[in-house]
Amino acid sequence: MLAQEIVEAVQTRRTSPGEVLQEYLQRIARLEPKVHAFIRLNPRAQAEAEAIEKRLADGENLPLAGVPIAVKDNLCTRGLQTTCASRILEHFVPPYSASVVEKLHQAGAIVLGKTNLDEFAMGSSTEYSAFGPTHNPWDLERVPGGTSGGSAAAVAADLAPLALGTDTGGSVRQPSALCGVYGFKPTYGRISRYGVIAHASSLDQVGTLARSMEDLALLTDALSGPDPLDSTSLPVLPKFREALEQTADFTVGIVAEAFASGNSAGVNAACENFRATLERRGVRFVEVSIPSLHYALATYYIVDTSEISSNLARYDGTLYGLRVTGQDVGNTMMRTREAGLGPEVKRRILMGTFALSAGYYEAYYGKALRARAKLKADFDAAFAQADLLLMPTSPTPAFKLGDKLSDPLSMYLSDIDTVAINLAGLPALSLPAGLEGGLPIGLQLIARPLEDERIFTLAKAFEKASEGAFVQIAPVS
Ligand code: GLN
Repeated sequence: MLAQEIVEAVQTRRTSPGEVLQEYLQRIARLEPKVHAFIRLNPRAQAEAEAIEKRLADGENLPLAGVPIAVKDNLCTRGLQTTCASRILEHFVPPYSASVVEKLHQAGAIVLGKTNLDEFAMGSSTEYSAFGPTHNPWDLERVPGGTSGGSAAAVAADLAPLALGTDTGGSVRQPSALCGVYGFKPTYGRISRYGVIAHASSLDQVGTLARSMEDLALLTDALSGPDPLDSTSLPVLPKFREALEQTADFTVGIVAEAFASGNSAGVNAACENFRATLERRGVRFVEVSIPSLHYALATYYIVDTSEISSNLARYDGTLYGLRVTGQDVGNTMMRTREAGLGPEVKRRILMGTFALSAGYYEAYYGKALRARAKLKADFDAAFAQADLLLMPTSPTPAFKLGDKLSDPLSMYLSDIDTVAINLAGLPALSLPAGLEGGLPIGLQLIARPLEDERIFTLAKAFEKASEGAFVQIAPVS
C-alpha cells in the first residue's frame, strides 16, 4: 500500500492502525525470511497502533496516521535496541529517541522495526552488517545497495510503505536506485541529526524513502525543520507537498563528467528517456561540467575516514555497548574493539587515524578540505547555468552478493556518483527511471542548497509524465 492510501483509509475510519499493522506483519512473516530487511521488529508496534487509535478518537490531526515506518538501525529508539549492525552495540538500548523518531510519533506513525545496514553505515551493499546481508527483492542473489539497504529493500518489497535512512556518502540514494524506490537526502541541516549515531558528522544526514513522490513529500514534510537539539539544523520550514503542485519551469544541467564513461547502457538510456520525456513538457536541458568531480571519491574517503577515526573513539568498552575486560585499561580497549568491530570499520579507523596523524595531517586532511571547497565552487558555477543537475545515482544496477567483498576499492567505487553531493552539502534525490535486465536503474537530481523542494517539483513532473512506469513493488514472492 502507499502511505497516502493508508492515511486516507485510517482518517476516514475505513481501517484502523491496528489492522494496517497486522497486514504488514503478515507480509513480513512471508517475505522477510528471503529479504532480511530488518534486524528487529518493534515489539511495541501493536501498543503504538492502539495509542494512535485513541489520539484519532480524540480528534487529533495526524499527517501520518497509522503508517508503519521502517527505521534504519543507526537511529536511536528509546527502549528499543539500536545496534548499527555492529557487535559492539548489539545490546545497546538508547535512553532517548532521535528527533526524527519523535517526529514520527508526533505525526501518528508506527515504528515497525529497525532495518539492516552496513556496520556503522560504512559500505555500499549491506553485506558488512554483523547480522548477515539483506537481499535485493528484485533478485535475491543481488545486493540491495547500502548502507540503508534494509530500508530500501523493505520499501521496494512493500514490507513498509515508508522508511528512514541516513546518507553520509550516498547511503539513502544508492540503495534506493538499486531497489527501484525514491530516496531523498536533504540539504545539510534541514533534518535534525540529534540521535543519529555519528559516522562522519559533517556529511551525515537523515533521508527518506518511498514508492511515490506524494508519499516521499508526506514523510519529508513531517521530519524537516529546525531542532534546538541539533546545532547544525537550519531554521527553514518544509514545503515538500506544496512543491508537488508547482510547474517544473526549470533548466536541468546534465553533468558531462558523470555520463562520460563507465556507466552501464541502462543508465545512459534512462538519462535519454528522462530528457525526452521532460523536454516534451517544456523542461530545458543543457550540458554542464564539474571538473573536480573526478577528485570527489578520493576527497570523500579522506574526510569520511578522518571523522570516523574521531567519532568512533567513543567505543572503547567504557560507556557504550560491549566490554571485553583485559589486564588494564589499554588492553580492555584493544580487546573490546578487536571483538566488537568488523573489518571495514577497523580499516576506516586505521585510514582516518593515519590521515590525521602528525606530519600527514596537511598532506591528507588539509588537502582534502581544499578539494572539498573546490568541488563546492564547481557546483556553484554549474548552478549558474542550471536550476537542477542530473547525474546517475550508481554507474550500474545491483551487483551480485559477494562480488565486491574481497576488494574494498571496487566497493568504494560504487559511490562515485553520490559522495560529491555530501561533500558539497547539497540536496539530492534518486528516482526510479529505468530497468535493465529486470533490475531497477536510478537517476539523481541535485539542487542548490535549500532549494530541495524544486527537486520534488521536477521528480513529480517525471512521475506523472511517465505514468509511474518505473515505480512498482518488487516482484518477490
Ligand atoms: N558508501 C559510502 C561509504 O561507505 C556511503 C556511506 C553512507 O552514506 N553512510 O562511506
